Amino acid sequence: MGDGAAGGGFDTAGPGRDVAGRRCAVLGLARTGIGVARLLARRGAHVAALDLKPRHLLPPGIDELERSGVRILLGPHPAEELRRAELIVISPGIPDLPEVAEAEAAGVQVVSEVEVGLWWLRAPVAAVTGTNGKSTVTTLLGEMGRRAGRPTFAGANLGTPLADAVDGPADDPAGLVVAELSSFQLERTTSLHARAALLLNVTDDHLDRHGSLEAYAAVKARVFRNQTPDDFAVVPAGDALCERLAAAGRARVVRFGAPGSEAFAEGEELVVRAPGTAELRLPRSLLRLRGAHNVDNALAALLAARLLELPPAAMSATLEAFTGLPHRMQLVGEVRGVEYYDDSKATNVGAALRAIEGLDRRGVLIAGGREKGGSYAPLREAIRRQITRLVLIGEACPAMRAELGDLVPCEDAETLEQAVRRAAAAAEPGQAVLLAPACSSYDMFRDYLERGNRFAETVRELAREAVTEGARGD
Ligand code: ADP
Repeated sequence: MGDGAAGGGFDTAGPGRDVAGRRCAVLGLARTGIGVARLLARRGAHVAALDLKPRHLLPPGIDELERSGVRILLGPHPAEELRRAELIVISPGIPDLPEVAEAEAAGVQVVSEVEVGLWWLRAPVAAVTGTNGKSTVTTLLGEMGRRAGRPTFAGANLGTPLADAVDGPADDPAGLVVAELSSFQLERTTSLHARAALLLNVTDDHLDRHGSLEAYAAVKARVFRNQTPDDFAVVPAGDALCERLAAAGRARVVRFGAPGSEAFAEGEELVVRAPGTAELRLPRSLLRLRGAHNVDNALAALLAARLLELPPAAMSATLEAFTGLPHRMQLVGEVRGVEYYDDSKATNVGAALRAIEGLDRRGVLIAGGREKGGSYAPLREAIRRQITRLVLIGEACPAMRAELGDLVPCEDAETLEQAVRRAAAAAEPGQAVLLAPACSSYDMFRDYLERGNRFAETVRELAREAVTEGARGD
């Protein structure tokens, strides 16, 4: 691989950004695929966009894409089309396909949709990756840019695809692009050159895909590629793995989260000492998010904002206004004195751990789903301290019971609704019920959003029943 190659650094021979008149195939027609197909067509490429699904299951925008000259090919991928392409762009979530491997072996350039966006972006980029906290930090930093009056795009893995930032209002040297990047997106991205690259943490996740923590971490470290000594690598202080990965790059390494680092909490203040700037102190009480992990997230965003020269007023106003993203430690109801927290986005053990530690009271944990191949043992200490009962769902029940079932009473539930009802029956007033699955949702739900929404719906049902019963009882 052409690691660290200057000025574009393409991995394989191929058209790269010179796509005009070239044959490009875009795989996957969700929002990212549509965005990147539109962009390539705008740059003069002959684009074919492929998806296995029938048209009525695809998002709106396909018709418009077709009108702009993109050929839409639905159903099984025609191998011939991929072989004849000069560039294949794969959307995140597309598995390794034999027909793509075959085309690549035959010399076709294969890249991520993020790579294509990066070819043309003119704005400085802040890239945010890590196992957990990406969306929270991306949202915070994007909002700080916006409040500073800087034309800002915040998206990529979160919300709007990166291709849609190209030629948009933020796509200007005076603008700012905050890009959340997953490991899947970094895998086939070589042209990233981030002014600030944030690696928030690396814990077990997606081992089913990457094989080992080392392999997964190596992919995450691609966020530092092409950086120069004028750029910044932002990592958690004291995290040996993240610090090592950052030190292997060329950027200046700055750290957050521990006293003595460039951004830390001290008493009632958040302190930021970014190189080349005056010390900044903000009241910690501005931060409305719960949990120690969100203090880390805020520190990472503040440090990056300072490095990107955003004004302190925009930083403090953002902290004050931000109440968190849905399905991340979201209080969705209180019934009979019990608080219900939806952390459906805790799809791995690291996130679930921080969620349990972030509870300010004891309570019942609902966990389980599809496994990712790691161990649940890191949860043991936090469960012993905070959790009074475990209610398990999904495919992970036997493994979780085996690793955690000796700590507290533990029961399985057939459905999430049943799990919520069992948790409600066991929780005492003043306690919490926390959904922090530590697993993906794909065994029972379309995604973590559906899982979180079902949790919240059931809590609303419980609330209605409590009102009705209360009325009857009087
Ligand atoms: P991502 O985009 O990386 O998935 P989110 O901000 O959406 O990150 O949060 C994902 C999950 O991780 C949520 O359950 C959240 O409560 C938890 N989380 C957020 N920040 C951190 C952190 N710094 N460390 C560990 N877990 C975190």
